[in-house]
Amino acid sequence: MNIDQTGLQTAIAKARKGGKEGGCPIGASLIYHDGDEVYVLGAAHNENTQKHPNIPHAETASIQDAGSQKLETFQKTTLYTTLSPCSMCTGAILYFGIPCVVIGEDIHAEGRVNIELLRRRGVEVVLHENEECKELLQKFIDENPKVRQLNDKPELYPRLLEREQSQVWFNRPP
Ligand SMILES: [Zn+2]
Repeated sequence: MNIDQTGLQTAIAKARKGGKEGGCPIGASLIYHDGDEVYVLGAAHNENTQKHPNIPHAETASIQDAGSQKLETFQKTTLYTTLSPCSMCTGAILYFGIPCVVIGEDIHAEGRVNIELLRRRGVEVVLHENEECKELLQKFIDENPKVRQLNDKPELYPRLLEREQSQVWFNRPP
């Protein structure tokens, strides 16, 4: 089992599933690895459109999908995500002590501040420029003008601005 290929392909498959449901096509997978033992511990896609508007991001939903696990188990996993994690998912990654995060792309993300935070806290972060991940999300943005507006005019959305400001806080030197 090629862990990197399996991890990202599982995340992409979940993103596609979310897209087919009419949701935002972002997927994630949590791969357990300990020596020769490698398996998918959890996998999920973003369900903001389908379910609750805030909480079920692909990364947090993957961690939830892993079910009840000891913290040591999470410490032997790598999280694969099609898009660079937001601050909420970054917090979950740190909370569960996930030591490695592999990211499909970050051009549609809020910036690199969360990657910097993860790295500063000792998490290994591998950032790819995966065309499949980029195209999936770009297609969704093009087909959903409301989301596009969110990207183009953040000043219209005070909550988004608030989030930007909270990230400035994260970006402060320690
Ligand atoms: Zn998130």
